[in-house]
Amino acid sequence: MPDSSPPVCVWLKRDLRVDDHAALAEAVARARGGAVFALFVYEPEVLAQPEWDSSHTAFQAECLADLDAALRRKSIRLVTRRGEAVASLEQLRNETGFRLLVAHEEIGTGVTYARDRRVRRWARAAGIELLEVPQTGVVRRLATRNGWNRLWEKRMTAPCASVPRSTGRGGGDTVERLGSLGILGCRELGLPEDTKDRQRGGERAASAVLDDFLQQRGRHYSGGISSPVSAATSCSRLSAALAFGALSMRRVWQASEARRLDVQAALVTAESPREKAECKAWQRSLKGVQSRLHWHCHFMQKLEDEPAIEFENMLRAADGLRESEVVPERLAAWQSGHTGYPLVDACMRSLLATGWLTFRMRALLVSFASYSLWLHWRPTGLHLARHFLDFEPGIHWSQLQMQSGTTGINTLRIYNPTKQAIDQDPRGIFIRRWVPELACLPPAYVHMPWTMPVDVQQASGCIIGRDYPAPLVDHIVAVREAKRRLAMVRNAPESRAEARDVAHRHGSRKDRRGAMQQDPVRRTLFGDGGDSAGRSKRRPSPPVPDPQQLLPFFTEDLAAEVVGDTPSENS
Ligand SMILES: Cc1cc2nc3c(=O)[nH]c(=O)nc-3n(C[C@H](O)[C@H](O)[C@H](O)COP(=O)(O)OP(=O)(O)OC[C@H]3O[C@@H](n4cnc5c(N)ncnc54)[C@H](O)[C@@H]3O)c2cc1C
Repeated sequence: MPDSSPPVCVWLKRDLRVDDHAALAEAVARARGGAVFALFVYEPEVLAQPEWDSSHTAFQAECLADLDAALRRKSIRLVTRRGEAVASLEQLRNETGFRLLVAHEEIGTGVTYARDRRVRRWARAAGIELLEVPQTGVVRRLATRNGWNRLWEKRMTAPCASVPRSTGRGGGDTVERLGSLGILGCRELGLPEDTKDRQRGGERAASAVLDDFLQQRGRHYSGGISSPVSAATSCSRLSAALAFGALSMRRVWQASEARRLDVQAALVTAESPREKAECKAWQRSLKGVQSRLHWHCHFMQKLEDEPAIEFENMLRAADGLRESEVVPERLAAWQSGHTGYPLVDACMRSLLATGWLTFRMRALLVSFASYSLWLHWRPTGLHLARHFLDFEPGIHWSQLQMQSGTTGINTLRIYNPTKQAIDQDPRGIFIRRWVPELACLPPAYVHMPWTMPVDVQQASGCIIGRDYPAPLVDHIVAVREAKRRLAMVRNAPESRAEARDVAHRHGSRKDRRGAMQQDPVRRTLFGDGGDSAGRSKRRPSPPVPDPQQLLPFFTEDLAAEVVGDTPSENS
């Protein structure tokens, strides 16, 4: 190929790895021996989003540094630019003459969705071939949720994409001469320094976390993920790597599947009861995590199918419920961890410090904000998004709505913050760590400090109302009122009709006896002859068993285990 042939550009966004990178592999294949370069654009509009935090920039920089080194080994240059995406691409096109642009299908926020549309329009007008390839199980332009699980399984079991070394001939000189800003940190981007004690970014760090989880920590996944005391080590801790694309979902799925098969084989040869018990514990854990990997894409698919759920209630009949009632003082107390409820405050402060929380504690924070404080999910969701290092818009906004009772298809799951504290942190270890005002309280009061007699307050150096707030609201009273308001909306005939549509559009089609059947709201929704796979009577479907129900991790006992452990995750 003559040196003058244009290079191929791979536009990196939330796919910061080389392993199983379909866009890079495709670009090298399509370049047919010509040069390939990777572009990352620091976009002011992305950095200015209220969801963005310095911790995201710092994590991203670590991913990019790792990626830069890996790309060099493949003879692919990483070029970084700063500016609006279309302007940056247009400038690079002028500099290199690229005619093929390859990117992954990003399932992002409203800002990146709009930007991707602009880029598509620009590419069409400029005669650039824009190739967007999937990187998860989310399906673009999906007509129906029926059969989605099968598509997901097909993607997860397909061979991982291997990126060959680019031979980098045609266009190589042009690429070498391109100006690049290098990897920018918070200071260069005009952001405050990152102060979180967070996970490290990068493909190598992510692979190490995955290996460690599958060989060691994952043993305690089942049973260890709900309590904030054990969750940080029992959970996989893969979420940030998945959100930034430092690992591919397929790689994680296949690694977990390989481990599952190893454990299965080990169980066959296990002799002692102890060995057998170990294998069974691993089996439970691996099934649990595999289910959640599936939910990852299931929830993202909701946003892909209906981008408006980032901003609007999934059940439009819930419009107006909370919008005008956000009390700024309540929001501020919740955001900073000063509500007077110890576990809620400990969770928030731990999140602000580390950027991570386990599922149940995230759900508790949202439940408390949405029901006890009657705050709208949008401002609370933005605050959480900013502080979740793993912010993934599709999961995040779907979960926010689910935990706030605005989907219409999920049972209201209202967490009692005191009961959760007693159940999940019985000795107050997590609370004392993150709420130091309560560190010296006698065990009897650490979950309900407001019940401390004055002399105990004085003796423990924690005066309620001075050193630690009295409860911001009476949870029991507030929740009674929240339920009354929500019932008025959810029980209206129009809402029920609308909820059926929501279920049809977004509901999981998982199993016959799992989440849906155990969920009374959904049972009622489909009680009119519709089936547990979400097909309503008005849209009869052929009675063919859905192959998705044959997936290994949707067995009955697993559904029971998952529903019991984390009741509101799987819908
Ligand atoms: C209000 C709320 C907001 C959330 N926002 C996010 C978010 O922005 N980004 C995010 O990745 N997760 C989010 N979750 C889901 C879940 O809490 C996190 O995925 C999990 O805590 C991340 O830790 P982990 O990787 O150790 O998870 P593990 O329990 O080890 O799970 C492995 C992977 O499965 C996926 N997963 C786990 N639980 C869920 C779930 N309930 N729904 C969908 N996928 C799941 C994630 O990709 C996770 O990395 C949210 C949950 C709630 C209740």
